Amino acid sequence: MKLEDLYRQVIMDHYKNPRNKGLVEADGYQTVHLHNPSCGDDMTIEVKVEGNIIKDVRQAGTGCSICCSSASVMTEELIGKTVAEANKTIQNFYQMIQGNDLTDEEIEELGEAMAYKGVSQFPARIKCATLAWKAAEKALKEADEDEK
Ligand code: ZN
Repeated sequence: MKLEDLYRQVIMDHYKNPRNKGLVEADGYQTVHLHNPSCGDDMTIEVKVEGNIIKDVRQAGTGCSICCSSASVMTEELIGKTVAEANKTIQNFYQMIQGNDLTDEEIEELGEAMAYKGVSQFPARIKCATLAWKAAEKALKEADEDEK
């Protein structure tokens, strides 16, 4: 199987069977809502941080397959990480999506999120792929400020 086909399968799988979908609206969650007017994507992310570990990430949104599937992949990649590790993963995702090279270690670390590598060739879709990640980044920042 070609790598591109594998990537396409990952995206379609997460689009059809989204992980961690639906908001819990419970105490201890930071909620961030972001909108991508260029495509119409709308995304809300909830993040729960306890003792500097990401305990839970929830996503709920509407939009294109790139945006919705990317939100699903993001939740799986961030849950269980420390805030610092998660922020690094998010930054690496931005680097990849802009077409920048990553080290083997960074590629390994991104896991299924590598499926969006091809998006770098379609600048108009970069906002779709990064919307949920931007919301998570903001939620983590707010969670961090709350703990101080
Ligand atoms: Zn979109």
